Amino acid sequence: FVIANISGIRQADIPNIVMSSQLEHAARDLAARMAGLDLKGRVALIEAAVPGRLVFTTSLGIEDQALTHALAMAKGRTEIVTLDTGRLYPETYDTWTETESAYGIRIRAYAPEREAEERFVREEGINGFRQSVAARQACCGFRKVEPLGRALEGAAGWLTGLRSGQSANRADTPLAEADAARGLIKINPLADWSRADVDRFVADNYIPYNVLHDRGFPSIGCAPCTRAIKVGEDERAGRWWWEQASKKECGLHIHTPEADVQPGQEPAA
Ligand code: SF4
Repeated sequence: FVIANISGIRQADIPNIVMSSQLEHAARDLAARMAGLDLKGRVALIEAAVPGRLVFTTSLGIEDQALTHALAMAKGRTEIVTLDTGRLYPETYDTWTETESAYGIRIRAYAPEREAEERFVREEGINGFRQSVAARQACCGFRKVEPLGRALEGAAGWLTGLRSGQSANRADTPLAEADAARGLIKINPLADWSRADVDRFVADNYIPYNVLHDRGFPSIGCAPCTRAIKVGEDERAGRWWWEQASKKECGLHIHTPEADVQPGQEPAA
């Protein structure tokens, strides 16, 4: 399992509480070893050091495109998946298609459960997520968090394109961290990259990216919940702009059992 190559411990042999501390130790070890490497080296290290199932969840945003490129070039074993909320911009679907074509890959989609979607729309309305933070989090719950749980089933490592510079909420994003709730290591190979680093890497490697990035969208999520930002605004200011900054995460990157969130319920975080 994930820790085997790092600390010599098997997950199946240890109780959950011990597993949590071992995950933390393994994550710190992995992060330290990633620190001095370029992206290609980081991808190679992750695939060598984490022997279980590896999953990268891409939103097709520009950071994720950089990581998709590195993974596709490595031709490794990391699975590239996306959460198709059903509410994405047409430009995002175009980016998805272009990426598959450019790299000869298939990005696996995880979609919301039909019953949960129908219930939410019936009870809250098609755009009911604007009514309250709870309704918005419930929508993110069945469109994103629950499918993420399915995507990560049995995974030992979860790769993301998170950067610490994206927002105040993400300022402490490490290269690797224990996700004890999911029993895996969450790996953020771009955590210490600036947006300029990402842009340079994408340009230098002719990586396809979402045209909305050129229209004032540094961060791109669902169409009804993302707008362009103004000069000087936080990179994620265009996401759920009607909410307080402290609430503006969809639940994918918060360490609580969000997978249990159902329409009408608010996550604990
Ligand atoms: Fe629903 Fe908006 Fe969250 Fe997308 S970003 S899942 S539309 S609340």
